Amino acid sequence: MQNAEKVIEFFKEICDIPHASYDEKRIGDYLVDFAEKRGLSYRRDGIGNVLIKKPASIKGCNAPAVIIQGHMDMVYVRESDCPYTYEEGIKLIEEDGFLRADGTSLGADDGIALAYGLALLDSEDIAHPDLEVVFTVQEEVGLYGAEHFDCSDLKGKYLINIDTEQEGVFFTSCAGAVRADLVLPVERVRLENMRRLTVELYGLAGGHSGMEIHLGRPNAIVIMMRLLLSMGGLANICSIECDGKTNAIADHCKALLYVSPEKADNIAARLSKTVAEFNAEFEGVDEIKLRTTLGDVESAMCWTKDCHRSVLGALIMIPNGVIGMSGDIPGLVETSANPGILVSEDNKVTVSFCIRSSVRDKKEFVLDKLESVAAMSMGDLIRFSDYPQWEYRENSMLRDMAMDSYRELFGREPKASAIHAGLECGYFAERITDVDIISIGPDQFDVHTTRERVSLDSLGRVWQLIQKLLELLSR
Ligand SMILES: [Zn+2]
Repeated sequence: MQNAEKVIEFFKEICDIPHASYDEKRIGDYLVDFAEKRGLSYRRDGIGNVLIKKPASIKGCNAPAVIIQGHMDMVYVRESDCPYTYEEGIKLIEEDGFLRADGTSLGADDGIALAYGLALLDSEDIAHPDLEVVFTVQEEVGLYGAEHFDCSDLKGKYLINIDTEQEGVFFTSCAGAVRADLVLPVERVRLENMRRLTVELYGLAGGHSGMEIHLGRPNAIVIMMRLLLSMGGLANICSIECDGKTNAIADHCKALLYVSPEKADNIAARLSKTVAEFNAEFEGVDEIKLRTTLGDVESAMCWTKDCHRSVLGALIMIPNGVIGMSGDIPGLVETSANPGILVSEDNKVTVSFCIRSSVRDKKEFVLDKLESVAAMSMGDLIRFSDYPQWEYRENSMLRDMAMDSYRELFGREPKASAIHAGLECGYFAERITDVDIISIGPDQFDVHTTRERVSLDSLGRVWQLIQKLLELLSR
């Protein structure tokens, strides 16, 4: 078996070439040049994805081809006092068994996949079947490269995606996601001599709607709905806003209310009391901060009574947080919904959701619920970009082979896992009939930060595992 020397050599070459998302032209040129120099057939598509093919190492091998896949872009972050510019590339430091970068992110996510791929394509002494090595662009900014990659000339029946960060953990499934906007009509009426009351919820922990949804943290949009509903008809709503992201748990929300001047102080006190009750409910999980500001007495256009009832009634029913857990993988969130943005306009309010599931039908079920909520309030549900899930396979020869090999090689117990976020595997699973996929990678820490580092020992072990798998798959 080859040691990881070549892999590290290629990784160093990759680090010399700036390759942040959207700036993959030079790294793509380098890959194409690599293929040309070795007489390997390749294809580069219109957006920059590169496919390089290499025939089996053994003549007459008729085992099915294996696809090796990773992404060529990286998340580039730089400390303000870093002496190197982006154009100077990544300066590597080897320290305590880790590889890290001097003052920037490292880009082992996913440069290491490129390095493994190139070392395979370059090798003359590794046994493997036909290889189809796919390097995509713009993974970090929404899986754009994989979304637009044409799989029709791929012959591989096995796909090894190298883009995870824990050695010995074999990913076998990922969630698909869809963005949907719930639009509810609003009617207004002019109210005279009312006192302005601004209500702000802030300081919530928030978090990633895929990776942190299982923590049960309160969503500021949902908390605001509960708070407003608890006021009965005492508060007239002028607007509610949350300028968040669909894929982040809402950590703030602001409402502009109008109340009768003589009840204003009482109402503010009641809001504080209700938020204190919510905080008791979320004790040990999160803390909601409340700021109320009383303003002038003025006239304002607020939601009508009917609209107040129907819109708040609808918004209190929106699905939020974990909807269901996986039956196959313990601890994995299977389906979730996250309202992340809320926009008020004169005649409508719009709540934007990110709905994730590793099972297509369950994602559809959540969308159906939202559609019903919309219909009951004469509103609309608009669906946007959808990326496919990679569903768990009961029978996966590749997963079993990888886990057995890992156990045999290193005497350690591997783990099959899945994530409640998107991986490029979803697109390949959707487009290549019957493809058997695993996602692997060496131990990496603090990815996407200037502390990003990869374990050299782990990098070596994953390299051995890849070689072993290819040897088995060439039989
Ligand atoms: Zn990655």
